[in-house]
Amino acid sequence: MKFRSTRGEKTVTFDEALIQGIAGDGGLYLPDELPAFSIEAFSGAHATGDVAKILLQPFFESSTLLSALDEIIAETFSFPLPVTALPVQEGSAGLLELYHGPTAAFKDVGAGFLAACMSRLEGEPDNPLTILVATSGDTGGAVAAAFNDRPGMRVVVLYPDGRVSERQAHQLTCWGDNVLSLAVQGSFDDCQAMAKAAMADKALTGYRFSSANSINIGRLLPQSTYYAAASLQHFRETGRKPGFVVPTGNLGNALACCMARLFGLPIGEIVLATNANCLISDFLAGEEWLPRDSIETHASAMDVGNPSNMERLRYLFGEADELNGIVSAVSVSDHEIEQEIRQNFSEFGLVTCPHTATATHAWRQLTDEQRSATDWILVATAHPAKFEQIVEPIIGQAIPLPQEMASILSRDQKYEKIEPDLQSMTAALDQRFSAKP
Ligand SMILES: *Cc1c(COP(=O)(O)O)cnc(C)c1O
Repeated sequence: MKFRSTRGEKTVTFDEALIQGIAGDGGLYLPDELPAFSIEAFSGAHATGDVAKILLQPFFESSTLLSALDEIIAETFSFPLPVTALPVQEGSAGLLELYHGPTAAFKDVGAGFLAACMSRLEGEPDNPLTILVATSGDTGGAVAAAFNDRPGMRVVVLYPDGRVSERQAHQLTCWGDNVLSLAVQGSFDDCQAMAKAAMADKALTGYRFSSANSINIGRLLPQSTYYAAASLQHFRETGRKPGFVVPTGNLGNALACCMARLFGLPIGEIVLATNANCLISDFLAGEEWLPRDSIETHASAMDVGNPSNMERLRYLFGEADELNGIVSAVSVSDHEIEQEIRQNFSEFGLVTCPHTATATHAWRQLTDEQRSATDWILVATAHPAKFEQIVEPIIGQAIPLPQEMASILSRDQKYEKIEPDLQSMTAALDQRFSAKP
């Protein structure tokens, strides 16, 4: 199978799509044909890793990594991705917990898979590939954790000093020697501009730069596997297709769910839960798609004004009216997020992060008919202990730290403060890596 840009005709192999990240014409890569799986194709496969081996195989037919796929999958799916039942009065609802990875958010799956692929394709101990990642909090930690200690690879994390939470800062700055963490004296936009400028700057060619963007096909595809595994398990147990409610920012996680549905997995309706950044729900309600500035909310990892993966969704499904009955969207305010965290705790004894709270809210907003006709799986994208400053005051008690997070928080932090310009960044890189003579 080959891959094609949403804006172009030329096809590339999986390896080329993975290394390029974004297509030369500015579009995003998608498989040029969609495999159709029957449920029987997965018989005997229960663990997410085993489902992944079957689901991902066709995409790797054009890849030099095909023979390493089982290993890549074993490295990626090394932590549980369970569905736990919620004690609801009517209907059926479960929580798909995607937060048991190294940095306690779903991005660990995509970042881990990308790192396992990229280091095999591009890792050169004599001339390492340098992954540049600008982060507003969550992405940088997942990418640093995934590439940490991989031979022939290094990571430069750019984050806005003082504008990420303490625990996030720790997850950005506690890694091995192949990770350089730069606390930029500026905004997230400054960080992003620096990463872009560095990629484009010929004077920095002593380094081989790449990105680990969330739009990379190598992050998107592995995310389909937990939707496949969860829906298969539910279907085998009940004979019914579950619907999914997915906290959504850049639309990467939810798009993976939509793709799993297109591949033939037993998935019903898909509800996108956004925070107050409501471009997606306005678009699905018939408004024009006009990118906006993002608004800051409690669910900060979803503060996206121009969700890039919408281009893929429209390419695959068509325009808003064609999504009717398949995909819908609900926008959730900060006030509603707070109420939801409180209610989840009092009603279910469940502690939810602000992102996950948008999903439980969207689920509560469904009509009685939608809730009785369909079984729902709500997606939990991060562990609440990652956002304890918001969640603890609302539930009135401390959230126990998961083991993995406790071990990260006990490590020493190591970072350099730099000015928000390319010279400062280059100086920090040269000092650490001394790529140039
Ligand atoms: C990144 C993130 C999201 C949003 O995911 P998208 O793929 O950008 O839609 C939601 N919740 C958490 C905790 C995240 O880190």
